[in-house]
Amino acid sequence: MKFVYDFAEGNKDLKDLLGGKGANLAEMTNLGLPVPPGFTITTEACQQYLRNGTHVDGLAAEIDAHLAALEAGMGRRLGDPADPLLVSVRSGAKFSMPGMMETVLNVGLNDESVAGLSRQAGGNDRFAWDSYRRLIQMFGKTVCEVPGHEFEDALHEAKVAKGVRDDVQLGADDLRELVTAYKKVFAKHTGHEFPQDPREQLDLAVEAVFRSWNADRAVLYRRQERIPADLGTAVNVVAMVFGNLGADSGTGVAFTRDPATGEPGVYGDYLANAQGEDVVAGIRNTLPLADLERLDPDSYAELMRIMATLEGHYRDLCDIEFTIERGKLWMLQTRVGKRTAAAAFTIAAQLVDEGVIDLDEALTRVTGAQLGQLMFPRFDLTFEPSSLTRGIGASPGAAYGQVVFTSQRAVEVAASGAPVILVRRETNPDDLPGMIAANGILTSRGGKTSHAAVVARGMGKTCVCGADEMEVSSASFTIGSHTVREGDTISIDGTTGRVYLGEVPVRPSEVVQYFEGDLDPLNANDPLVAAVHRILTHADSARRLKVRTNADTGLDAARARRFGAQGIGLCRTEHMFLGDRRELVERLILARNEAERNDALAALQPLQRADFLEIFREMNGLPVTIRLIDPPLHEFLPSLEELAVKVAVAHEHGRHVEHDEQLLAAVRRMHEQNPMLGLRGVRLGLVIPGLFAMQVRAIAEAAVALAAEGGRPRPEIMVPLVGAVQELETVRAEAEKIIAATVGDSGVDILIGTMIEVPRAALTAGQIAEAAEFFSFGTNDLTQMGWGFSRDDVEGAFFWRYLELGIFGISPFESIDTDGVGRLVKIAADEGRAARPGLKLGVCGEHGGDPDSVHFFHEVGLDYVSCSPFRVPIARLEAGRAAI
Ligand code: PEP
Ligand code: MG
Repeated sequence: MKFVYDFAEGNKDLKDLLGGKGANLAEMTNLGLPVPPGFTITTEACQQYLRNGTHVDGLAAEIDAHLAALEAGMGRRLGDPADPLLVSVRSGAKFSMPGMMETVLNVGLNDESVAGLSRQAGGNDRFAWDSYRRLIQMFGKTVCEVPGHEFEDALHEAKVAKGVRDDVQLGADDLRELVTAYKKVFAKHTGHEFPQDPREQLDLAVEAVFRSWNADRAVLYRRQERIPADLGTAVNVVAMVFGNLGADSGTGVAFTRDPATGEPGVYGDYLANAQGEDVVAGIRNTLPLADLERLDPDSYAELMRIMATLEGHYRDLCDIEFTIERGKLWMLQTRVGKRTAAAAFTIAAQLVDEGVIDLDEALTRVTGAQLGQLMFPRFDLTFEPSSLTRGIGASPGAAYGQVVFTSQRAVEVAASGAPVILVRRETNPDDLPGMIAANGILTSRGGKTSHAAVVARGMGKTCVCGADEMEVSSASFTIGSHTVREGDTISIDGTTGRVYLGEVPVRPSEVVQYFEGDLDPLNANDPLVAAVHRILTHADSARRLKVRTNADTGLDAARARRFGAQGIGLCRTEHMFLGDRRELVERLILARNEAERNDALAALQPLQRADFLEIFREMNGLPVTIRLIDPPLHEFLPSLEELAVKVAVAHEHGRHVEHDEQLLAAVRRMHEQNPMLGLRGVRLGLVIPGLFAMQVRAIAEAAVALAAEGGRPRPEIMVPLVGAVQELETVRAEAEKIIAATVGDSGVDILIGTMIEVPRAALTAGQIAEAAEFFSFGTNDLTQMGWGFSRDDVEGAFFWRYLELGIFGISPFESIDTDGVGRLVKIAADEGRAARPGLKLGVCGEHGGDPDSVHFFHEVGLDYVSCSPFRVPIARLEAGRAAI
């Protein structure tokens, strides 16, 4: 196995082996750009070192050979007392992990070669001693774990002793003394002297870089960024060039376009008479790159030429680190640069205009997650607000308002025109009016699939949940000793999960204004909006998957249509049973005989019909999947505790409250230990006579009404929670009769299908397809029942541990678990289609708007994904990306 590559031997495609930095240094070397010579030790050497915990067989000999070649090329030997070659030892993994791993500069300096370095620098003792003290400091910290602050303290003392404030005011003698002080610090902590043998320094530094792959902060960073833990880092050994040799030297970073906005032009910072670490550490103020033109026009011109070469070569924004040593420019690093979401879109469109890439490639350069970021209003954090606590960012956005603690107060305060933040321990369907009225929702319990999170995402409303430091009571919440009361103002960030005290100013999203039709992308004079329009339009023409929306009101349906939805994939009918209609639902539940039950259903039916008609109108010509009622009926009744207290209090006062007593009895009768696995979905339809029939009739009548207006309704009736074909057949037989009797010769055609959300349904999909014209995968329940994870409880309770242990990298409620739940989807899709060719297949769980999941659904051949209105553009983009 070959462990060491000269820069001339590599290229940019060898990132696995040489890491990002090494691969790009090799690429620049082969482009003929001025890269200091050097070599790269592979990630495989690092992996072996970390596995064995000792030196890697054969590595030393390879380093010898490459070092000898480097020395021959430079005409200097490493650490030669008379004329030393110095090298830097730099980490560089496949994926950039900024600042997470280690670097050691000036390797090769010792008590003797420091004089040689001074001579090389034209008798510059100060520079030589400064370089030496930097080596001891970095080597001590990185290789030998000497606490960094001890070096900093010694440096501080040296400045105090001399009566100066700045490092640069220390002279050669001060720095020589500082080296002595540093050596003492080193010896005190390590029990031995600072190593004088240059080759020993090199070997130890290489091993330290290997080990830094497993430093705590690197491990944490990888987990957050989902970078695999076993890749290891490469190590680059590079001949030192010095930016701190005087006014004609310096160091800088540059971008070939603005990484914040994507605007063309050259951006960067320059620091004269400094080394790279000084720029990063922010010790001195940098100059804008443009100033270099004045300071060193030749180097500036060369840098501009090189940047143009690099952009042309990489066909993308590049970022660069460079050093100028006495008027000679050296390239220390380049890579395709990180950028903001806005810049990603703008740059991709610019590169298309410039003829550098085509639209297909532009689509690969942006992501749905970036588009999502652009759709939410943002806080202006230049005001540095004070952070109260942090929860789970469950529905992105930025919202502020007065704190209220009940749905009712939210409605009242919002009606007065004030923005409100609804704060609850957790929310339930009763809180819906307050959630609609509020600007944002904050809960102390529950995770990303809690009621609050799912409903808020559906409404595009900012939500932070699971902020478990908060103790929420009926009129205040406390965090430690801090109490926030009703009427106090807070601000919540649904992306980061941060909660701030007071009002943080918010900026609206132009991209949403464009989707809403309020900004014309061609006249907007806004390159970002134009770029989003162009790339999304291309995604639409590329994609095979259709994108529908989950919407249960005309308002949501209309918005989703503006956002590009091609129909409704899930209309949850249960919200239509809340509010004023609750009383009718109570009547239904309390009915003592068929007549009373039929009365209650007859009262509900016209209301339902009006709901459906409104939605069909908004979605005229497009398919609308309406799901028959799913949640257990007791969710529509008051809570057992509250009602029991109310009745007990009445009794104590000698009052007779018959209605409440009846309700209480019903709540007790209907109480379930596991309601999610209890009487819900199709089971309700089979147990409560007339309930589904009422809904089916309302759907059919609404469709007939729209057809009579000249519209084109395309209803699809969906039966939830089916596990066996017999359930579906029973519901279907009744529904078909009602439909036939209702639609007559109106020309209305209504499909009947089912959700696949119970694992048994997925595994018997071939049978179920016989009775279904379409399947829609309910991946929320399929995940819940597939894993046996209660969707309302687990995320806040213990998922953190699962994520920590790497059992999964992301919650399976957020992104489809392709191996398990995804396999159920694939089996059902294949077997369903085998039984009924042309079976329409969609997904309506939360995963329908998750970028990675959209790619999976494309691969298994679904016809559409359905997601909340705000995620429709994201799904459109990702479906396009999946198809190219
Ligand atoms: C599902 O289970 O994925 C689904 C869409 O239904 P609900 O979330 O309403 O249970
Ligand atoms: Mg479900």
